[in-house]
Amino acid sequence: MKRLEPLIFEVSSPGRKAYSLPELEVPNSCVCNFLPESELRKTAPELPEVSEVDLVRHFTRLSQLNHGVDIGFYPLGSCTMKYNPKVNEEAANLPGFTDIHPYAPVETVQGALELMYNLQNYLCEIGGMDEMSLQPAAGAHGELTGIHIIRAYHKSRNDHARTKILIPDSAHGTNPASGVLAGFQTVQIPSDSRGGVDVEALEKVMDETVAGLMLTNPNTLGLFDENIEKITEIVHSKGGLLYYDGANANAIMGICRPGDMGFDVMHFNLHKTFATPHGGGGPGSGPVGVKKHLAPFLPVPVVKFDGQKYYLDYDRPQSIGRMKGFYGNFLVMVKAYAYIRSMGPDGLKAVSENAVLNANYVLRRIVDYYDLPYDRHCKHEFVVSPQRIKEETGIHTMDISKGLLDYGVHPPTNYFPLIVDEAIMVEPTETESKDSLDYFADALIEIAKLAYSDPEKLHQAPHTTVVGRLDEAGAAKNPRIRWQKEA
Ligand SMILES: *Cc1c(COP(=O)(O)O)cnc(C)c1O
Repeated sequence: MKRLEPLIFEVSSPGRKAYSLPELEVPNSCVCNFLPESELRKTAPELPEVSEVDLVRHFTRLSQLNHGVDIGFYPLGSCTMKYNPKVNEEAANLPGFTDIHPYAPVETVQGALELMYNLQNYLCEIGGMDEMSLQPAAGAHGELTGIHIIRAYHKSRNDHARTKILIPDSAHGTNPASGVLAGFQTVQIPSDSRGGVDVEALEKVMDETVAGLMLTNPNTLGLFDENIEKITEIVHSKGGLLYYDGANANAIMGICRPGDMGFDVMHFNLHKTFATPHGGGGPGSGPVGVKKHLAPFLPVPVVKFDGQKYYLDYDRPQSIGRMKGFYGNFLVMVKAYAYIRSMGPDGLKAVSENAVLNANYVLRRIVDYYDLPYDRHCKHEFVVSPQRIKEETGIHTMDISKGLLDYGVHPPTNYFPLIVDEAIMVEPTETESKDSLDYFADALIEIAKLAYSDPEKLHQAPHTTVVGRLDEAGAAKNPRIRWQKEA
């Protein structure tokens, strides 16, 4: 069968060119004139030979094979795949930002430092923190930074007995990974029947060997922990610190603040909450905020202002050191800054209100067709499970997600959090219209009905995509990432 989507090598035809240049008017000067014979290749490389139009069509077609938030609905829970306003890109494309060099003297980049300084302050205000570092490159990197800060804090007090970090069983996998990377033993805390931290279990394990607790609130079930003040009190009373995983900040902006809940250190994911594109592996940004007592441990340098000029503060003897080359992913900061400025405080609050409203709307539309493990109002995302559908029809979460592809929708997050069997985690985000929410809810309902009427069709889904069910484990274990000429 002919491949539907040929590789660029396969559309190649000898002699075709995607350029036309005038005749050379000067002597031909080639590196081959200077390199020793032994270093020169004997035969020309086999590069694809294509015309300009074939080249353009090839890459345009490739770009269309990818699903993105600019193409369709993308309710990937925990990832906040909101629409990213193009004005942010405009700002980040200004030559004054793109053409500066990290080694440029600070006097020549005052504008960039001012932007970073202001962004630090905005994020402190939104999070209820006192100081902020923009260095970490992602949320996970922010977690690692924060846990190192917690470690440095206890060490500075000669408190060396604290070897454990507590983490709820609903946590994102990066939380235990960060704890372990920073040299701690992680201890899992179970969830209670309402999906929050089991306070009694927490009380039992919380003692002077615990360095801190990492918590996401609302958690990955999309549920706000009703006992948050009690939780922070329990941890603090035994000398522990609280780390806030801010990946779900899209639910709370302008409504409540981790600092006011009692958290000592936190990160934001600028690429999630603050509308900078992500999903292709970066670049991201995971600023870390701290309360005053942890400020001495922040990574250096911190951007400061002396009333006249912006400068880089390296004078922090207790700093955990540098977490990233230079200052972090600057252009992501520019986009987040543009987003915060264009939304304003009321706009950011409206973001969270609408994110929560949209999630509850979708949840209530589909709740008769899917099981709801914790029957509460959700925040910006929710988790349902096709438990009944699975038992009655043999259709799994994977089949439902593959079925959604035929509706042109990116599937929700699957099989996470781990505490819900067959989890389907939906985060619609605030930027979707009621029409697209209804379209998605209708699709989920149709799929639930199809599970009973024609399960085989769902087992075979997707039917409309370029490729169907892939051998995902095979692709990960034996990736073919390079074209090889057929013998
Ligand atoms: C996305 C996410 C993280 C990790 O953030 P990255 O920026 O992807 O490293 C951590 N915790 C939660 C709850 C998340 O959703």
